[in-house]
Amino acid sequence: MNKAPTATIEDYLGIIYTLQRDGEEVIGARLAEIMHVSAPTVTVTLKRMLRDGWIEIDEKKRVTLTESGYEAARSVLRRHMLTEWLLSRVLNIPLSELHEEAHKIEHTLSPLVEEQLITSLDDPNVCPHGNPLPGQENASQHWLPLTGFIEGSVAIIRRIHELLEEDYNMMTRLAQLGIQPGVIVQVNANDRANYLFEIILNDQLIQLSFETAEKLFAENLPGH
Ligand SMILES: [Zn+2]
Ligand SMILES: [Zn+2]
Repeated sequence: MNKAPTATIEDYLGIIYTLQRDGEEVIGARLAEIMHVSAPTVTVTLKRMLRDGWIEIDEKKRVTLTESGYEAARSVLRRHMLTEWLLSRVLNIPLSELHEEAHKIEHTLSPLVEEQLITSLDDPNVCPHGNPLPGQENASQHWLPLTGFIEGSVAIIRRIHELLEEDYNMMTRLAQLGIQPGVIVQVNANDRANYLFEIILNDQLIQLSFETAEKLFAENLPGH
């Protein structure tokens, strides 16, 4: 029987779950990059997680969740996403701040509060950024990365991927540009050879890196 994971370990579990879900290989260097911490810090935490039975590490240093790690990750992600909704709907906290603020609170949510949140939020299947709650991955599977739309397409933004959420500066920039779920954009340029990706939003021409555009998901606007 594992003891309850600490807040730090819960944060690691959530990121490992997300990378694993997307089919990305999980290694320490990648975690250090995403979490903005040093490689030695990651190594220390991973050793602790291995000892406590949350993860396994193979001979190529690839990290995978154990069954209890997987369950704990699903639990914290669910609490994280419900907390984002709570902060958004009740306190009107802006989209760009939700992820950071939820991180400070999610770890202390009791099962009773979690149950109550699910009921009063009407059992959401995605977070305010459009990312699927664990077990609800179907909710987002029809949305394509913006880079998958040809020039001239009109699409409605549905999802800002978890890894963009994790990047506070990027979230601030997206907020300034008005990019959020529900807005309609036109793809103006999708020219990978020349590294040029542009969208038009509210008559404004916006350049995005391919790396960012790949993590914004959208669906075709009916009739376009
Ligand atoms: Zn978040
Ligand atoms: Zn979110």
